[in-house]
Amino acid sequence: MGVAIVTGGSRGIGAAISEKLAKDGYDVVINCASSVEKAEGVAEKCRAHGVKAVVKQWDVADYAACEAAVKQIKEELGVPAVLVNNAGITRDGLLVRMKPDQFDAVVSTNLKGTFNMTQIVGAMMLRAKAGSIVSLSSVVGISGNAGQANYAASKAGVIGLTKSAAKELGARGVRVNAVAPGFIESDMTDVLPEDVKKGMLAQIAMKRCGRPEEIADIVSFLASDAASYITGQVIVADGGML
Ligand code: NAP
Repeated sequence: MGVAIVTGGSRGIGAAISEKLAKDGYDVVINCASSVEKAEGVAEKCRAHGVKAVVKQWDVADYAACEAAVKQIKEELGVPAVLVNNAGITRDGLLVRMKPDQFDAVVSTNLKGTFNMTQIVGAMMLRAKAGSIVSLSSVVGISGNAGQANYAASKAGVIGLTKSAAKELGARGVRVNAVAPGFIESDMTDVLPEDVKKGMLAQIAMKRCGRPEEIADIVSFLASDAASYITGQVIVADGGML
């Protein structure tokens, strides 16, 4: 099946994606920013499916670090068949009070990190004339959200980047898609105040949060040949929230 890189694979949605892609038969590279021990735990679960799984720590916002990591992955495991741009952070705050640093940090990780990896891995996939890239956007990148101007801007940016990359890489057999989850159980949503969580649930038709595994299934589909004629798309998975 080849090699799949999952950025931010140490926790939450990224951990579920890593395990699902291992189950699908991919050798998996699990990237993290700092939680190496957690990532090792995910790698162990991936190896139970009989594939290779390695942990690589680097900051996706750092272009040189992305280049060095991808070069090493190519030498050790081969040209990636799948890239999942999942690493992401939030630094919430109301727009008028938001510090420029809060904006920069979120855009650097979520959008610039996705650009960095898409450009570097996309160039390799272009030469190989094959590959599938899936990036994590968010429903708030479509709808906006009070208190998340930085995050919503970064996730809207991921959609524009995905659609443009799909147009540039499609002729050479490289597909680029995005998933826009709604409210999914993870560390990212766990820290929200109870009243905010209640308010979110009230807006969801299915009256429950999504599970990381439900997002992993969509990424697995988009990465696979079952999605061989799908590119430039954003799949919304929000239990009927938008
Ligand atoms: P999470 O539980 O907070 O995990 C974030 C992951 O990203 C961790 O593995 C973290 O690594 C990694 N990461 C953060 N900054 C990084 C950096 N600079 N370089 C490399 N890795 C970095 O998040 P999640 O809820 O699973 O979300 C995963 C993705 O889905 C994100 O892009 C998020 O925006 C998107 N999303 C989530 C939801 C939701 O409701 N949870 C909804 C819509 C979209 P460490 O463990 O080392 O810190």
